[in-house]
Amino acid sequence: MSQPKKDYYEILGIDRDADDDQITKAYRKLAMKWHPDRIKDADKKKEAEEKFKEITEANTVLMDPEKRRKYDQFGLLDGEGPDFGGPPPGFPDLSEIFGQMGGMPGMGGMPGMGGFPFMGGFPGMGGMGGMGMNMGNGNVNKQSRTSQEYKVKIKLEEIFNGCDKQIEIPFEDVCGDCVGTGSKNKKKKVCSDCNGRGIRMMVRQLGPNMISQQQSPCQACEQKGWVSDGTCTGCGGKCTKSNKLTKTLHIKKNFDYQTKMCVREAGNYDSNSERKADIYISFKISDLEDYGLKLVNDYDLVLEHEINIWDAFSGYTFYYSNHPNKNKYAFKINEIIKSDEVKFAKKLGLPNDDDGDLKFGKLVIKFTYKYPKTVLTSEQLKNFLKEHNDTKGINKDEYIKEKFINPENDVDEKPRGRRSHSPDESEGNVSCAQS
Ligand SMILES: [Zn+2]
Ligand SMILES: [Zn+2]
Repeated sequence: MSQPKKDYYEILGIDRDADDDQITKAYRKLAMKWHPDRIKDADKKKEAEEKFKEITEANTVLMDPEKRRKYDQFGLLDGEGPDFGGPPPGFPDLSEIFGQMGGMPGMGGMPGMGGFPFMGGFPGMGGMGGMGMNMGNGNVNKQSRTSQEYKVKIKLEEIFNGCDKQIEIPFEDVCGDCVGTGSKNKKKKVCSDCNGRGIRMMVRQLGPNMISQQQSPCQACEQKGWVSDGTCTGCGGKCTKSNKLTKTLHIKKNFDYQTKMCVREAGNYDSNSERKADIYISFKISDLEDYGLKLVNDYDLVLEHEINIWDAFSGYTFYYSNHPNKNKYAFKINEIIKSDEVKFAKKLGLPNDDDGDLKFGKLVIKFTYKYPKTVLTSEQLKNFLKEHNDTKGINKDEYIKEKFINPENDVDEKPRGRRSHSPDESEGNVSCAQS
């Protein structure tokens, strides 16, 4: 009683020869759509759960080379669980689906750089497998992909207005003289100490009829299973040479500086896996101080502004002409401003391309009083208290009228969960490009 086969490829909407990236991309897109946590409608929840189970199962099988091979060969009957190990029970968190990065990648990404990377975790976050031992056949971790991170300085103006940014990324390229083998004859030699296994079996005689076997890493080849055959003079046996990758990054207007870009297999060459590392490009804002700004909660800009007592008590208009987005703003405050009072303006912080949906952080303004430097005579005090902001030279037409909002009265301006954890964690949008 053969029933129609479940078509995992159809479920994910991909071709039969789709590679891991295409599978992941398709899966993530569908996971975003069908994750039960995202479905509010109770009627649809059941359907979503089914769908989600299905796509997760498809992803689990297709992303595992062995399971995929078996599936391609034998297929799967409907109703039958994948007998080669299905997805874990329950629904994985979306953050799991999107790797260990906390954030969900914006679907938009960078112009001309579409696609999702990360098959194996994130730089500096483990999951890369490293060049560990392989107990099997000496085929040492050919699959493993390494990655490296590169930080690019970005200016506030570039964030708000966009730009094309030329960057040069130094990396260790494959040595052309030895094609990355470190050998004179361009060939790797199987390590004779461990027969290419990377590990050695130590046999110890414990008694007349008793031996113990112990594994230890092979020192001769540093667990690689191979050694260079005569030292390449081009690289001195290092297998690599320093090189630079030149790239132009297209920074769009209102760019989310937490975006991570990835250049696939263009970085440091690993002579073991014979692959180049993925380069993850992240951004660091370089000129906050030039604007007297500080950054909090990843996207909120904080400005300290000193005012005269007169202004604080007489209805002050703050003319702000130094916003990095080049607009000028006038904030009229019809109330007494207390010292160290904090006000904020929505949407005048940094762009946040969360989930492909552009938002902005806040501009937080902290008002501080201007105090006299020394004790004053009563005459000096009279004069001091009379000092106030002179707005005569200001062309008020150039200013956009903005309002401050009281943080306590504003409910929808809670800090976002996604950004609230440790700032050291790599997170944010990732878009990817082939080199
Ligand atoms: Zn060895
Ligand atoms: Zn060489």
